[in-house]
Amino acid sequence: MVKKGLMERLNSDEVVIGDGGFVFALEKRGYVKAGPWTPEAVVESPEAVKQLHREFLRAGSTVMQTFTFYASEDKLDNRGNECAAKYGVKEINDAACRLAREVANEGDALVAGGISQTPAYLSGLGKEKVQAEFKKQVDSFVANKVDFLIAEYFEHVEEIEWAIEALKKFSGGMAVCANMCIGEEGDMHGVSAGECAVRMAKAGADVVGINCHFGPVEVMRGIRKMKEALDKEGIKVHLMTQPLGFHTPDAKAQGFIDLPEFPFGLEPRICTRFDMHAYARDAYELGVRYIGGCCGFEPYHIRALTQELQEERGVIPEGSKKHLPWGSSLELHTKPWVRARANRPYWENLKPASGRPFSSSMSNPDQWGVTAGHKALKQHSEKTTKDETGGLKNYTS
Ligand SMILES: [Zn+2]
Repeated sequence: MVKKGLMERLNSDEVVIGDGGFVFALEKRGYVKAGPWTPEAVVESPEAVKQLHREFLRAGSTVMQTFTFYASEDKLDNRGNECAAKYGVKEINDAACRLAREVANEGDALVAGGISQTPAYLSGLGKEKVQAEFKKQVDSFVANKVDFLIAEYFEHVEEIEWAIEALKKFSGGMAVCANMCIGEEGDMHGVSAGECAVRMAKAGADVVGINCHFGPVEVMRGIRKMKEALDKEGIKVHLMTQPLGFHTPDAKAQGFIDLPEFPFGLEPRICTRFDMHAYARDAYELGVRYIGGCCGFEPYHIRALTQELQEERGVIPEGSKKHLPWGSSLELHTKPWVRARANRPYWENLKPASGRPFSSSMSNPDQWGVTAGHKALKQHSEKTTKDETGGLKNYTS
């Protein structure tokens, strides 16, 4: 089967369905460590990674992203992480490419090689050093013949500009998607969401958008601002969104990592599958044609995207055979009051209770306000010291 490439799909107004979050899903299953969040599971537990790829494929994802989040050598070697020495940047990136390709070959999915922000940037090491980190990953993506590239999870527009430039240059001009993990307030240096989008497009990205850090509702607010700015400048570029699978109405510029519940107490915030229907519709109507998810976004959430857009796309993925739209399979239930829920208005209008008698609906984010260049964010390969775990006050004296 000859597959259509990413740009061919987007240029013909086809909706590309991304995948969901790997680090969060695999951390909960015991294959990823919270903290470093590095993807050595591709070498240590390849079957677990493959199974998650396969679940996204069954749910309807048409992109298998290589599980290479934070797989730059400086991150694999950061703060006592031994993965750079133990496995090496090449082995990890190569293994991730192989797993994504094996599963993509089982359906109509493309493989995207992904890079993310680096400790080198946070530590102020400069453009040459940061791009050298990206090159090691891109060399692996090119050797393993991925279909296109994604720069995602960047908090600083300057670093993603360097990333886009590096991806284009070192890959010999492959299609590049660029996503910042920002909300409507813009990047960590106060650059607006609109300006971030314009700068990503001007740096050469073929697709621009937002991933991670905010839930679907907040990401849609950010992408609206991006679209307005791009339209104003007359820039034609495709749009993409890959939000969290969590609600984050109370998050400020730094997103969910600033919330006190991050990362081990986020469960009450999980979006329902019907929240994802609303997100898919909103994104589609705005003109976003690459629609997916990030942390907390599980295969059933991806399935909800494909079900909402079933008519437009004409595709019913394998995973939908076990879930009829809007809960209609409940008609088979034995209890009449549950059968009565087999309809769209019921699920569309439901306001789920949290069941937690002492929970508030909102939190106060930490808002330390430190950003690249601050000494609290300087990275190193030695283990974190006691002084470095004590809070921001340890850096201000
Ligand atoms: Zn994420």
